[in-house]
Amino acid sequence: MSSVQNPELSNSKGMLTDVTKCIGCERCVEACVRQNKLPREFPAKFKSDDGLSGNRFTSIVKTDAAKADLVRMVRRHCLHCIDPACLAACLVGAFKKTPDGAVEYDADMCIGCRYCMLACPFSIPRYEYNEPLPYIRKCKMNDECRAKGGKPACVSACPTGATIYGRRKDLLEVARERIKSNPDLYIDHIYGEKEFGGTSVMYLSDTPLNETLKMPTKTEFDRLRVSSLAQKSIPSMVEPWVWVTPVQFVAVSSGLGVIWLYRRKKLLANQNNQDSNPGNENKGGDHGNR
Ligand code: SF4
Ligand code: SF4
Ligand code: SF4
Repeated sequence: MSSVQNPELSNSKGMLTDVTKCIGCERCVEACVRQNKLPREFPAKFKSDDGLSGNRFTSIVKTDAAKADLVRMVRRHCLHCIDPACLAACLVGAFKKTPDGAVEYDADMCIGCRYCMLACPFSIPRYEYNEPLPYIRKCKMNDECRAKGGKPACVSACPTGATIYGRRKDLLEVARERIKSNPDLYIDHIYGEKEFGGTSVMYLSDTPLNETLKMPTKTEFDRLRVSSLAQKSIPSMVEPWVWVTPVQFVAVSSGLGVIWLYRRKKLLANQNNQDSNPGNENKGGDHGNR
């Protein structure tokens, strides 16, 4: 059953980041580093790349706005998808979606294939390339993250309330209410409500975030005439085609087997022919059998 319909997830938790409230102070990043006992050296602030790495599970990136007054600071971290592509791609089941909403990763099961990195539509998982025994690293949003009050440390540290934590359905209500009460400020869109089947981490903004969050725009999907795909999870899109690979394998193997049998039969027939007519040995032109 797809996680989207999974009743266990109906009370799942998530985060809502209101980009209009973020001042780019990076206290969320610092709190995450402290809580997860990550190395203290910080990447340069507001780098053009997204700043995530094997030892940074969240970062603050600048929107690439042409107008300076529309440049915003946006938190980037795992979106804890409702139907996660990383989970579907993992060969050994190292990921799981918990009823709490988090997509957790079990390093003990990981074989280092990095398929999860390829599968994630938001380019989130990072690999510890500098470690002798590397693992995948990403935001956890689990019990290990909780600071006092039961919220993730990054949320508790935010001085402006730019990121809040709670039940996903309550966060959606909050987001809708904010858009309704301030339509001149917000774009009428909750980033993560529906994209790729929906995510547990969502965003409100007054400037487009598609590029920053690596979410496709509706126009991009419309241009490809596949607009409905924007609301489907990657596993649900791939599922109908999963049968193709084994069928291809069986078809190709059977085809090769038939060709081999045909050629072998022909070879044996030629040999029998030559054995029974030794005088014709050179007439067939099969010099390779001499
Ligand atoms: S954002 Fe990427 S890493 Fe996070 S749950 Fe979704 S697919 Fe997995
Ligand atoms: S939820 Fe946890 S791992 Fe993710 S950014 Fe917050 S503190 Fe870091
Ligand atoms: S702590 Fe809050 S205001 Fe500061 S960078 Fe993080 S989300 Fe933005």
